[in-house]
Amino acid sequence: MSTHVALGDRSYSIHYQSLEHLPGLLEDEGLRIGRCLLVSDENVAAHYRSPLVRQLERAGWTVRSIVLSPGEQTKSAEALQSIYDEALTWGIDRQTPVLALGGGVIGDLAGFAAATLLRGLPLVHLPTSLLAQVDASVGGKTAINHETGKNLIGAFYQPRFVCTDPSVLDTLPMAEYTSGMAEVVKHALIRDVDLMSFLEENLVSILSRRDREAIAETIRRAVSVKADVVSADERETGERVVLNFGHTFAHAIESVAGYGTFSHGEAVALGMRAALYLSHHRHPDALPRERAVELVRALPVEPDPSALDFDSLYEAMRSDKKNTEGTIQFVLLDRLGHAYVTGDLRRSLVQRAWEFACEE
Ligand code: NAD
Repeated sequence: MSTHVALGDRSYSIHYQSLEHLPGLLEDEGLRIGRCLLVSDENVAAHYRSPLVRQLERAGWTVRSIVLSPGEQTKSAEALQSIYDEALTWGIDRQTPVLALGGGVIGDLAGFAAATLLRGLPLVHLPTSLLAQVDASVGGKTAINHETGKNLIGAFYQPRFVCTDPSVLDTLPMAEYTSGMAEVVKHALIRDVDLMSFLEENLVSILSRRDREAIAETIRRAVSVKADVVSADERETGERVVLNFGHTFAHAIESVAGYGTFSHGEAVALGMRAALYLSHHRHPDALPRERAVELVRALPVEPDPSALDFDSLYEAMRSDKKNTEGTIQFVLLDRLGHAYVTGDLRRSLVQRAWEFACEE
């Protein structure tokens, strides 16, 4: 089973397979057996590195593992430099694949290393968090952070392929899992009413992680949404912006509350509540707000958002780098499964949307 990302000569597949099958996939995808770089973080490596290295070595690969500290601070120039140093002193050539085994942090960092080493090495994403499986591993955005902001140094660089193994989510901490689920709900709301119905029917077993087949199905459907959107707009010059549904508020919440106070998923869940309020205000007849809000409210948010000052949130939204000509960009729905971007919303309306998002 696989999903295709259609980008001309940069097209690739997302294979839903056990990591055990990686050596076969590398061969099927035309990668020459030799050296490969495996980049991971300590949490993920503790579970999956040794068996994977054994499988690769058995197939004839020589593996150099680079294991980094977990967490957002690893998306840094220092960590990038450490990958460059390891790779270049070990000896690589332009055929040496970079295998990114981890969540979005490792995917973004190892992806940028692959994009820049020797002007581009084959990149293989092995996403291990739910967020990385349904979002970060698809679409070719790679980046590190700068002290002035997140993801400010990076490149669009598509992987050669992605191997998504839902069974690795068994070891993912629950908070990370629910955080990733916010992006799944977002994909359903902006593009896929069938996925929305599927989530509504299976919500309890999906959120409690009881039904592996339902989770695997959810991942495949959410990946298809992302694959469709990025296939139509690789470099975010148009349609891809709809993936920011809920994110205008989310980025402001994370920055005003201080990174880590709300998880990214909690911030996105609050942002989607506000965006649904705004969408319903504009399209009261076409958007059944109660239905959409019920799904979003199923995503747990632990900290109390009403403690955040609206003026500070508004200021943070105004200074978002995604704005054009000083107008705050919101992604709204004009019906379930269809999103668009708008910039002309009154401040008082945005404030009412925030108050709605904070309601118990
Ligand atoms: P992450 O990579 O920090 O992973 C979250 C935590 O879970 C980490 O502690 C990690 O070690 C651990 N972990 C991951 N998989 C595990 C597993 N299977 N078992 C046990 N522990 C596991 O964070 P994330 O939420 O995956 O990704 C967030 C990053 O992704 C951000 O930097 C964000 O900017 C980026 N991102 C990129 C894109 C893109 O299009 N490139 C899209 C969305 C987000």
